[in-house]
Amino acid sequence: MKAVYIKSQGGVEVFTYGELPEPTIGPTEISVRVGACALNRLDVYTRMGVRGTKREFKEPHILGGDVAGDVVEVGKDVVGIKEGDRVVLNPRLTCGQCHYCLAGDDEFCRRAGMIGSSANGGYAEYVKAPGVNAVPLPASLSYAEAAAMPTVFMPMWSMLLRRGQLKPWETALVLSASSGVGTAAIQVAKNVIGARIIATTSTAEKAQKAKELGADEVIIYTQEDIEQRVKELTKGEGVDVVVDHVGSDFWEKAFASLRIGGRYGICGVTTGYRAQLQMGSLFTRQVTVFGVFMGNKEDLRQIVELAGRGIIKGVVHQTFPLSEAARAHQVMESLSFFGKLVLVP
Ligand SMILES: [Zn+2]
Repeated sequence: MKAVYIKSQGGVEVFTYGELPEPTIGPTEISVRVGACALNRLDVYTRMGVRGTKREFKEPHILGGDVAGDVVEVGKDVVGIKEGDRVVLNPRLTCGQCHYCLAGDDEFCRRAGMIGSSANGGYAEYVKAPGVNAVPLPASLSYAEAAAMPTVFMPMWSMLLRRGQLKPWETALVLSASSGVGTAAIQVAKNVIGARIIATTSTAEKAQKAKELGADEVIIYTQEDIEQRVKELTKGEGVDVVVDHVGSDFWEKAFASLRIGGRYGICGVTTGYRAQLQMGSLFTRQVTVFGVFMGNKEDLRQIVELAGRGIIKGVVHQTFPLSEAARAHQVMESLSFFGKLVLVP
């Protein structure tokens, strides 16, 4: 099969577009013909060997965790998925046997991995996955739209619906609205929960797109002070929930924007992972800071259900042929996009 793979870590020159054997499946696995594979920051980190991803490869490695496509082969012990089904894959690999998995909290699995990191991913014509990781797609969803969803929407199910408990009468501050996570956060906060949203972004053009997605107010952080604008927009109260996936660059201003009793959720640290925490304010202001990684398997089924009804959608900025994975990575590193970048074999 055609695939884009790496044998060592570094710049985009480590990518090879060539032939690799098709994956062979076990009894609980399926093989999927890739219809689309969305890029994530993790792909860039794993390619570069930064942020804890440094490693040696024994075999050529294929990146890409967010995959949609059609099922071409089904292991004999798989139930509920059949050949020919259009599916989207949950990239999170879990053991199904630890006490968290058994309790249904598979987001805390003790032996978790990720398609595209600990196993070969979707920068290829075919990818294999456990059958339990596949969710059937409604006909109304394209492969590109579906592939654009799992890694950005699943953390929002954990962060906004479960841990953050955002309510319709509350206000959320969504940092960096133009990223995939930002576009998911706005839609979940607005279309699923019905909350008010203050988003931040870098340009007027991105601000307009954030408003079209559902943001009530947008702060252009290159021109305005986030903390001061939030205070103005909330009559001095601050926001109930912060959605942070960018890390240290905005921590201080965003943390100061929380109301008393507010909740600060973190699901990524793209700008840096160290920050100073004023511990006194944790108890005097009674705020909660928490992290989420992905979500659990049931979350993706719910996400696909709502996407099928048109309530939320994967936001695709641009698609690229598989052979142009290097160019797609360069666009991701440039930060000049709104939504997801998607490879199509
Ligand atoms: Zn487990």
